[in-house]
Amino acid sequence: MKRCERCGLNRQERFYSGPRGRICTTCQKRSRSEAHHRRRVGKIYGLDIGEYDALFLAQNGACAICEGTRKQRLSVDHDHRDGVVRGLLCRMCNGRLLTAARDRPEVLRAAAEYLERPPAIDVIGYRYAAPEANNGRQRRKR
Ligand SMILES: [Zn+2]
Ligand SMILES: [Zn+2]
Repeated sequence: MKRCERCGLNRQERFYSGPRGRICTTCQKRSRSEAHHRRRVGKIYGLDIGEYDALFLAQNGACAICEGTRKQRLSVDHDHRDGVVRGLLCRMCNGRLLTAARDRPEVLRAAAEYLERPPAIDVIGYRYAAPEANNGRQRRKR
């Protein structure tokens, strides 16, 4: 028997997804449900009923930045300074890309320019990192 951290019930192991599961499958299902999600985005982001869906539809069900579509729900992205909801993003763009850029458009523009015109090529020409620095990906062909 194990105590669910969400509902507090003592339940048998089979009600958990694995030995490390801390929330019972009933609670897992509930938190994945549409109704729960609607209440949550309403409470946290002030979205009215249907507004998440309207955003989702307007963005063709894809992340507003990378256009990725994942099985996971898109996150509601908001401006951390004034709380204004900006749009729906995948977890990578919301949690990593914007965080790394500290929400600064000029950093992201500079990053795009950097990738399109890597400054090292102008200075030293083409130098290639050893394959192990490449994580097994192909080097670019020119
Ligand atoms: Zn539970
Ligand atoms: Zn994305």
